[in-house]
Amino acid sequence: MAEVKTQGAVEAMEVAEASRETEWEKPSFVGDLFLGKLNLDLIHPFPEQPAADKAEGDAFLTKLERFLAEQVDAEEIDRKGEYDYSLFDGLNEIGAWGMKIPKEYGGLGFSATNYNRAIGLTATWCGSTVAWLSAHQSIGVPQPLKLFGTEEQKKKYLPRLAKGAISAFALTEPGVGSDPAKMETRAVPTPDGKGWTLNGEKLWCTNGLKAEVIVVMAQTPPKIVNGKEKKQISAFILETNTPGVEIAHRCQFMGLRGIGNVLIRFNDVFIPKENLLWGEGLGLKLALITLNTGRLTIPAGCAAGGRRMLEIARDWANERVQWGAPIGKHEAVAAKLSWMASHTFAMEAIVWLTSGLADRGDVDLRLEAAMAKLFNTEMAWKCVDELVQIRGGRGFETSWSLKARGEKGYPVERIMRDMRINRIFEGTSEIQHLFIAREAVDPHMKRGYKILLPETPTNEKLSAAAKAGAYYATWYPSRYVGWSRFPKYGDFGRLSTHLGYIERQSRHLSRSIFHAMMRFQAKLERKQMVLFRIVDIGTDLFAMSSAITYAEMLAKKGEKNAIDLADLFCREARVRIDQNFRTLFDNHDELAYRVVQKFMKGEYQWLEGQLVEPLVPTAEQVEEAIRQLA
Ligand SMILES: Cc1cc2nc3c(=O)[nH]c(=O)nc-3n(C[C@H](O)[C@H](O)[C@H](O)COP(=O)(O)OP(=O)(O)OC[C@H]3O[C@@H](n4cnc5c(N)ncnc54)[C@H](O)[C@@H]3O)c2cc1C
Repeated sequence: MAEVKTQGAVEAMEVAEASRETEWEKPSFVGDLFLGKLNLDLIHPFPEQPAADKAEGDAFLTKLERFLAEQVDAEEIDRKGEYDYSLFDGLNEIGAWGMKIPKEYGGLGFSATNYNRAIGLTATWCGSTVAWLSAHQSIGVPQPLKLFGTEEQKKKYLPRLAKGAISAFALTEPGVGSDPAKMETRAVPTPDGKGWTLNGEKLWCTNGLKAEVIVVMAQTPPKIVNGKEKKQISAFILETNTPGVEIAHRCQFMGLRGIGNVLIRFNDVFIPKENLLWGEGLGLKLALITLNTGRLTIPAGCAAGGRRMLEIARDWANERVQWGAPIGKHEAVAAKLSWMASHTFAMEAIVWLTSGLADRGDVDLRLEAAMAKLFNTEMAWKCVDELVQIRGGRGFETSWSLKARGEKGYPVERIMRDMRINRIFEGTSEIQHLFIAREAVDPHMKRGYKILLPETPTNEKLSAAAKAGAYYATWYPSRYVGWSRFPKYGDFGRLSTHLGYIERQSRHLSRSIFHAMMRFQAKLERKQMVLFRIVDIGTDLFAMSSAITYAEMLAKKGEKNAIDLADLFCREARVRIDQNFRTLFDNHDELAYRVVQKFMKGEYQWLEGQLVEPLVPTAEQVEEAIRQLA
């Protein structure tokens, strides 16, 4: 495969690696799965919401539901492509801007479970409202401020933010998306030492249109560490009414048409030194941790979307009669419905498991949160695609057109448009795969990486090999033996065989990771499709574990049907897992990659045939467009 590591790529990797959270202070369920260990005790019994916390959430949800149903016209917001800003006050009245802000600073101080319940409920109604609330408090100023702010900073900003001073998170730039380490926005210290001068621009800043304060990441002057210049990225709280802050463009999208997302420019903007967050050089780490900890919101929205879609699908599958039977009675439609139901159940299980564990606070959730984002966004997208199909032509028709001709105005077309972005923002599915893969191979990398690098001196290689050899002499054989065939999981009834399968496949997975390291050595990093299959297997094993423990908890409360859904989901996930193992090393990745390199050079351009080419704009038109942007 071609070498893709340019100097810039190496530097970006170094900065990203330096900003990675490397400490594992608490146990990790998924981390153990990758090492061949099913540590069920970490997720079983399924964490249930304490009664007092639930009561607090219930009271808020009642108010929120009424507010959404009575005040928020999601269809109109979507149709106009503009939010109804008069709703901001109403959201403020019920405390929605401060859900995640601690009570001592004037917020509601919600648990992760209650916050995700509120986000979920909102997501069943209006995607744009979710985006306003979530960009403000899942990733906007309150989140990094809570994690890394000084007491003075918290006292100054959190009460304001809780009362509806809207905030935003500004990381992405036109030139950097998935790879923010290479950002161009710069902050330099002012000569008088009183602060910083910020210059640059940030793209797709959600809430930027109305934000009073934003958290912005920028390059600050490099430092010399061990004789080598080290790039620094720092984070700042910025008041948007500071001179030099300019909204350069309002971005419009396929979905979430009511969000206030902008290209924001900074022209010699002064930031007082007290507004540096955490410390100089810690900005990228702050951004990545903010995204990691805020990452449960999108999965909660996706699972809730799944619930809304099930309602529509059930109604339509019963109502619509074709060929003499309700369409849900035709096996092909029934298969789609069963897939939607079992996968919505798994999405729910993941959301309430991760939320409950976040509230319990005794496990590391980095990998689980990334898997929740990856799994729920991918599955919710497949659900909406199936729903459009089940609705037939009506799935493609807008809700207002349906209503205008006297039919039920199910907003399936809007749900589809709103859903698509979830696989992209707050880290694309590809980036989640890479992040999870990096952590999955890390325990082996730590032991074996030095041996695999050609530049390691022979004496260091020998000593590293001796240490690794001693470890793997016991670890490797132990990954072949386990207790999965014994009646260890008997308490889980019908689902016990799936737990045995998870245990066996987790050992299989850990051996496969080891084999992949041995086979590809230092080049494994570039074998993305192998890594992605490893991650997909791990993610499905995690989803199965979540679904099983969730079903067991629900069954104990009398919800016996939950076992059927978990069983169905596990059977579907097992087909995917088996397929991924089969093609892990036996695949056509090399051929596909070779073909694409030729494709990129234009060697298959003949395939594109005759296309209508857009007219090239005149110099005057380009100038006019630039004038309008400026
Ligand atoms: C509606 C909307 C709201 C947003 N809100 C915010 C916000 O509030 N704040 C903010 O800072 N940003 C925001 N973003 C930006 C968003 O987070 C980025 O779009 C996202 O991180 C991806 O970056 P990109 O679009 O530049 O894609 P790119 O990074 O250019 O990626 C393009 C494609 O290449 C893939 N890819 C990239 N690198 C690799 C790799 N190494 N290996 C394999 N595949 C790779 C990606 O997965 C993707 O499929 C928003 C974007 C949108 C559209």
